[in-house]
Amino acid sequence: MKIVVIGTGYVGLVSGACFSEMGNTVVCVDVDSDKIGKLKKGIIPIYEPGLEAIIKKNRSQKNIYFSTSIEESIKDASIVFIAVGTPMKEDGAADLQSVFSVAKEIGKSMTARLVIVNKSTVPVGTAYRLKEIVAKELKLRESIVDFDIVSNPEFLKEGSAITDFMKPDRVIIGSDSEYASKKMKELYSPFFRTHQRYLEMDIRSAEMTKYAANAMLATKISFINEMAIICEKLDADINQVRLGIGSDKRIGYDFIYPGVGYGGTCFPKDISAIQKVAKEAGYIPKLLDSVSRINQYQKVYFLQKITSRFGEDLSGKVFGIWGLTFKPGTNDMREAPSIFMINELISRGAKIKAYDPKVSQESVNFYINNKENVLICKSKYEVLTNVQALILLTEWKEFRSPDFDKIKKELLNPVIFDGRNQYGSFELKDKGFEYYQIGKN
Ligand code: NAD
Repeated sequence: MKIVVIGTGYVGLVSGACFSEMGNTVVCVDVDSDKIGKLKKGIIPIYEPGLEAIIKKNRSQKNIYFSTSIEESIKDASIVFIAVGTPMKEDGAADLQSVFSVAKEIGKSMTARLVIVNKSTVPVGTAYRLKEIVAKELKLRESIVDFDIVSNPEFLKEGSAITDFMKPDRVIIGSDSEYASKKMKELYSPFFRTHQRYLEMDIRSAEMTKYAANAMLATKISFINEMAIICEKLDADINQVRLGIGSDKRIGYDFIYPGVGYGGTCFPKDISAIQKVAKEAGYIPKLLDSVSRINQYQKVYFLQKITSRFGEDLSGKVFGIWGLTFKPGTNDMREAPSIFMINELISRGAKIKAYDPKVSQESVNFYINNKENVLICKSKYEVLTNVQALILLTEWKEFRSPDFDKIKKELLNPVIFDGRNQYGSFELKDKGFEYYQIGKN
């Protein structure tokens, strides 16, 4: 099958690569000519484990191509995916500008029947707006071409995106066309050789499923973070409580790790978008409002551990940070708790030395207000020289079992703020550290 994927970000590029791996011919399209130029040379603009190898192989087998032109790319395609960004607008709603502009472009240039599949996360009902846009463009040029609109929300996780895509827990297809449903089943059937989790439903429910899934996951995180604070107040240990509740199959161990709050491109913007549309539809979502507020407070709560120890005025003090991305396994820093933490520490006069396996000085500069106060180091131990304390913000594997003697020797004070509860079992207090974690005194 010839497939076009528009948008070569985390979702589009991974989807395109995985479809090409199954033997389809794929063209990945993006407006960013810089990105496409790099991809044409075999340079992968994002970090995602396994992605580079799949693209390299399929480029050499002529299964995957890159282009900036929607018109050229969709000429003889049977399915076109929209996988562009839907960032949060200032008012909290999803910004659908890119999705609409792609739909317009498709309507302007399509010449034969096309199944148009939206993979971007969009509010319920957006597929019907896309249908209107495409139909309007066809009418303007007096063209009669059949097309179908499908909703196929994406559930991959950055850091394990290839595995998630190749062996999906489920594929959701929202469709009201028999023709499109048949095409989608054909496309996805190679991904379901061992188990069948292919769910067809109406378009609006498919769009809603994505928001409901992210809302549930964010709720689990805010739930455990609230329990962690209560544990601290009552002198209980959230690490033990977590194991205690996770062993109940109805609860499970996933997504109940206390931390510095969720970040990333999806949870903050998707929770905000669903809150917004619910309010517009006349319902104030009480649970989701709390989930967002708890998440915001969790970052403040962790910051207060630092200011309680070192004071509100941090002038002349330098802090060391391990981990900047919103989670391990990605180079994505969007909405990461590290951005809040760094900006707050700097606003109190501190300077920062930081290390992350996948973040360069250049990308930090993009996110931090007073970037001259942040120095990105080449190794985790380089961070420690002349700093007041170590702050762990992302649980990359290389931070999990560090040399604590070395850390103690390098730090000005033997103080560790562990935002991911990684070091509870290392008896750090017995080793002479002041050790602060979440949900345990
Ligand atoms: P991204 O920001 O990494 O990539 C979006 C890409 O779209 C960029 O390369 C951008 O240049 C391109 N683009 C923007 N406007 C365009 C246009 N008019 N024509 C062509 N290309 C255009 O975004 P992402 O993280 O891949 O997310 C894409 C969508 O998938 C979002 O709606 C997101 O919520 C959803 N999603 C993301 C994840 C994730 O983990 N990142 C998971 C599931 C769903």
